[in-house]
Amino acid sequence: SAGKYDYDLVIIGCGVGGHGAALHAVEQGMKVAVIEGHDIGGTCVNRGCVPSKALLAASGRIREMQNAMHLKSMGIQVGSVSFERQGIADHAINLAKTIQTNLKRSLEALGVDILIGQAKFVDNHTVKYSLPGRVDVGGTVTARDIIIATGSVPFVPPGIPIDGKTVFTSDHALKLEWLPQWIAIIGSGYIGLEFSDVYTALGCEVTFVEAMPNIMPGFDKEIARLAERVLIKPRPIDFHTNVIASKVTPGVPGVKPVLIELTDFNTKKVVDTLEVDACLVATGRAPYTNGLGLASIGVDTDRRGFVPTSEKMEVLDKDGKVVPNVYCIGDANGKYMLAHAASAQGISAIENMLGRPHVLNHNSVPAACFTHPEVSFVGVTQEKAEEMAKEKGFPLGISKTSFKANSKALAEKEGEGMAKMLYRKDTGEILGVHIFGLHAADLIHEASNAIATGQTVQDIKFNVHAHPTLSEVLDELFKGAHLDKAAAN
Ligand code: FAD
Repeated sequence: SAGKYDYDLVIIGCGVGGHGAALHAVEQGMKVAVIEGHDIGGTCVNRGCVPSKALLAASGRIREMQNAMHLKSMGIQVGSVSFERQGIADHAINLAKTIQTNLKRSLEALGVDILIGQAKFVDNHTVKYSLPGRVDVGGTVTARDIIIATGSVPFVPPGIPIDGKTVFTSDHALKLEWLPQWIAIIGSGYIGLEFSDVYTALGCEVTFVEAMPNIMPGFDKEIARLAERVLIKPRPIDFHTNVIASKVTPGVPGVKPVLIELTDFNTKKVVDTLEVDACLVATGRAPYTNGLGLASIGVDTDRRGFVPTSEKMEVLDKDGKVVPNVYCIGDANGKYMLAHAASAQGISAIENMLGRPHVLNHNSVPAACFTHPEVSFVGVTQEKAEEMAKEKGFPLGISKTSFKANSKALAEKEGEGMAKMLYRKDTGEILGVHIFGLHAADLIHEASNAIATGQTVQDIKFNVHAHPTLSEVLDELFKGAHLDKAAAN
């Protein structure tokens, strides 16, 4: 029973964040409704993680079979490999549909009301919802608590007109409607990098345009350098760094090229113009709060459009004070723009609204890039760890290992990779772990669990890993850590 309200909890937006929050709330006995204006599953299921991983699954298989040398060295011969673009696209589209249906069913089975429409705040207990052109949906609902889980949309820098055909974002690229011979990808973060893996496996050439001095700017530098050697150099990929795409002129497929004017990041002078068949804009994500009526609850988004949110996921008003009973999770708060962070924040918000204080340790949340091979990390980069060590005056330990030292990786002929752990030599605290190599995205969890539960190097050093498995890469890292005498005892 929700007392004087229609619901205990109304969740605005049903992406992975909203979905995860709804499941946890129901488990806690709450009466819940979600309001969704677009597709259940949000970005992740329909325009993000799910379809992109479907495309990468296909590109990975193709890459493997094209790599005849590799297979030959195992005594396997394959004929020529061919693929059908639409078949690959359909795999992604169908997978998104399946998972969307599964999410919807799971909500229905648990008795969550799914309301269709764009939601707008009336006050901190009341939300109106409607859909333009649909008189059959809409209404007003009240709830004791409300969660904003409205997610994000592609961020497109000024001067770049999106035509959805030759100049597009990941929203369009995931549909794989055509394969340009040469595509420029603006931004070499994880989204751009994953698409470069897909496109090059499907026979396209890629040029990265990156504003920062090096590609993969968000990653640990050493890992980025190795990834460059493996994921960029041997493939038909080149890149321009320190430049911004200051102006993009759309083309006509097969008729007129796309023009991309490059401006030096520092001097602001035009340095070059690229002529390519298509341009993918992968310059990050912008929070989506349009039409949400945040002013009705006294909230202003921050400079970049995110909803100001406390560490307990409470929404903060213009004066930095908590808006009672309103929470924000996922991409909309900008704390950590990944799917699993959104749902973890959802659980955290529910715990807090039920009076069980909970703060998610974002430092323990892993991140991954699903190229072949994969990149993953948790915690801080080496650069950041070095800074921390200097500031706080602790001895920094760095433990490293190569996939070449791992029997399973070698059996798979996948010895290209490395892992490293950054830790405090005085206390054994794990500060960060970075992996580049086969199944890195799965391997990272032993490290993220250790950080989440506060386990030190001493706690996990003698844990046993099955042989031969890739997990022994982590075993090597842990065993390779050397602590100060006092900590080791
Ligand atoms: P969303 O999933 O964006 O959902 C928000 C929902 O709210 C949407 O359905 C929207 O329609 C709805 N909505 C918005 N406003 C309103 C309103 N006023 N009323 C009603 N409904 C509203 N993350 C990973 O962890 N792993 C990956 O491999 C990964 N790959 C990605 C690949 C790509 C190409 C992209 C673009 C993203 C990827 N991400 C990945 C990021 C991930 O998709 C997001 O972090 C995640 O979707 C955020 O979840 P969310 O619930 O906050 O928002």
